[in-house]
Amino acid sequence: MKKLNISKKILFWYDNNKRSLPWRKITSQKNKNYYTLVSEFMLQQTQVNSVIPYFENFIKEIPNLKRLSSISDQKLMKLWEGLGYYSRARNLKKTAKKILSNFNGNLPSTKDDLKSLPGIGEYTSSAIMAIAFNKPIIPLDGNVERVLKRVLYLKTKYEISKENLFKKKSFFGTSKRSSDYAQAIMEIGALICKPISPLCYKCPLKKNCISLKKNDFYIKSKNKSNKIKYFEAKIYNSKNKYLLIKNNKFNFLKNLLIFPMDEVKKEKFQSFVGRRLNIKMSNMDMKIFINKKNKTNKIKNGFMLDKNNIHNKILPSFTKKIFDTISKH
Ligand code: SF4
Repeated sequence: MKKLNISKKILFWYDNNKRSLPWRKITSQKNKNYYTLVSEFMLQQTQVNSVIPYFENFIKEIPNLKRLSSISDQKLMKLWEGLGYYSRARNLKKTAKKILSNFNGNLPSTKDDLKSLPGIGEYTSSAIMAIAFNKPIIPLDGNVERVLKRVLYLKTKYEISKENLFKKKSFFGTSKRSSDYAQAIMEIGALICKPISPLCYKCPLKKNCISLKKNDFYIKSKNKSNKIKYFEAKIYNSKNKYLLIKNNKFNFLKNLLIFPMDEVKKEKFQSFVGRRLNIKMSNMDMKIFINKKNKTNKIKNGFMLDKNNIHNKILPSFTKKIFDTISKH
């Protein structure tokens, strides 16, 4: 009875407060599957508000799986430009091709089949199962984790472990409206149970929440801080042109245009005198020494890009940040 009340309360709140997001539009099941697939790829590591304009543009240009499977890499990258984590776009296209060749063009609806597709792991397969196929699964994203930790007041290392959180999800029970229910719990985390200053007075779980009773909202995180890595970026330029190379050396920003770079030891980095730049990546904090060479150098895979053409070229924001830094000096 208690669980039934919880799902009813949450869904009542959701029906009255959910955001109108482009991938939530009422549409055919086929479109819903495609929209869920694209949005879940885009939402990996990226906030909803940043994804919305990209999603809308993407769907306008690539309205279905078939078109996605045959889109040129250049067009795909242009549509993804600025969203970051470009391997997601490449995996999305590979996934579209595989769905057409192995699943008759239909997004598979089992976890194993979904996980056999490039770029789809435990979380994304759960989200697709719940959202597109209405399966009674609650995907454990950062928002759901936070709500669960607060409602049940989970603090110890074991209590906040993934293994325990998976078990504790049973607190929410299930609903026949599984798709809405999964999105509703995520939405509470995103809109109400915020990391700082949760809006408990608006929360459908306020009567069940132990953190609220104790007036202690501190969330223990198991995230380790990122590893710091050191790089030397070599800026070869002639007049207004700068040498860029296609990156096939580092695991990040694969096949995208970057300045020629080397990873260096901390000691060597500290010995450099001159301009530096810090860039945060998903799995590391990069400290970059900007080494301006004032001459050109022939490098395999390299070409000279005119500074005035930066905006017409598909460049990761990583490279644009370095361009900005150079331009300011
Ligand atoms: S009552 Fe407050 S702390 Fe508890 S789940 Fe709701 S928003 Fe989060």
